[in-house]
Amino acid sequence: MRRWLALMLLLLASTGQAMAANVEGLRLWQAPDSLRLVFDLSGPVEHKLFQLDDPERVVIDLHGAELEQALEAGTGDTWVRKVRSGRHSDGKLRVVLDMQRSVSSNTFLLEPNEKYGHRLVVDLTSESARQAEQDSLMEVVREAERNQKGELRDLIIAIDAGHGGEDPGALGASGTQEKDVVLEVARRLERRVAEAEGMTPLMIRDGDYYVALRDRIRKAREGEADLFVSIHADAFHDARAHGSSVYALSQNGATSEAARRLARSENEADLVGGVRLGDKNDTLASVLLDLSQTGAIEASLAVGREVLQRMGRVNDLHKSHVEQAAFVVLKSPDIPSILVETAFISNPSEERRLNSAGHQRRLADSMMAGIRSYFRENAPPGTVWAERDFGPDEHVVSRGETLSSIAREYRVSPQRLRTANGLNGDMVRAGVTLDIPAGGS
Ligand SMILES: [Zn+2]
Repeated sequence: MRRWLALMLLLLASTGQAMAANVEGLRLWQAPDSLRLVFDLSGPVEHKLFQLDDPERVVIDLHGAELEQALEAGTGDTWVRKVRSGRHSDGKLRVVLDMQRSVSSNTFLLEPNEKYGHRLVVDLTSESARQAEQDSLMEVVREAERNQKGELRDLIIAIDAGHGGEDPGALGASGTQEKDVVLEVARRLERRVAEAEGMTPLMIRDGDYYVALRDRIRKAREGEADLFVSIHADAFHDARAHGSSVYALSQNGATSEAARRLARSENEADLVGGVRLGDKNDTLASVLLDLSQTGAIEASLAVGREVLQRMGRVNDLHKSHVEQAAFVVLKSPDIPSILVETAFISNPSEERRLNSAGHQRRLADSMMAGIRSYFRENAPPGTVWAERDFGPDEHVVSRGETLSSIAREYRVSPQRLRTANGLNGDMVRAGVTLDIPAGGS
């Protein structure tokens, strides 16, 4: 969001004409391979989009739309040089985007939801940006191969921050948006994975933009991920609901009504985030082949159990076992995939904790500990982790040990050890199990 605040243009709506749709605002969301413009409208509007070249322009005509204040702004963006608007001779409102690069375009209307009213979405994609994004996925794969000499490669951990852009996800009472806090946690997990020997992170979303559910799966597959971790925060109408949960895919119905409810709401992200419905069928079908996912589900449950157990040390657990439901984003037939609901953003004290850097770090560290624990036993052949013993990531404190002596033993800084375990000072009780954070010193 930060980066795009500067680009946010607020338009004053005309009040005079009851029949016309008013253009009330415009938001821009920049993804690595696309730029999305969202016009807020007081009602549905007839529109037409066309492109002109030399110089490159995208023109959007809105029929019967009103705009009190002319839309004119330089965006300082690398895609759009300028947005301007005017009244065409035949009465329609014309918005012109002066482009910095050649794009292909696509528009659709979105129905009102909890957060926004009627919207017109204009998606601009650029072949060169798409290629660059593709290259960056390949670069992750190459880096995973290059990191180790010899035949062995790194494990690739796909980290998926839920929602984004036009889809804020769940909302906390004091205004926290799920998309923001889960990105923070995702970035902390990314750092942990990057620091760990034999692992390479792959960020599925790395900014405030929406990624369609099927594209999240596609990116993980193209990036040859060994694991897919989708990070979310739950919400419930009862503010008392709290705790972390971990979900895996289910092929045969949800394990509980709550899991079914959650899968339904998470799967609606595409509707909220703005995915053109016409795109859905063929592309989803091409990804979600009707393959047997039994193997991937077994693996997902196994990694889910490890993660859930570690999360239970830093947060209450909402459910003490891994739940299952038909989450679209978990449907890779060959990549173990879990969805982590870090906490209930609808619970005021958990909302507060989700905003705290220390708690975000603890959540990321506990997920990392679970991931390490899983791969110690289950690394695919050909990976560094399959061949090397990376040592325990847990330590049961014996009498006479101090936090600094344990930190020395595992070559991590005492501060890291404290943070990972939510401790202060140097005292640790004998018998307590400590998480040893990944990444060495
Ligand atoms: Zn979510």
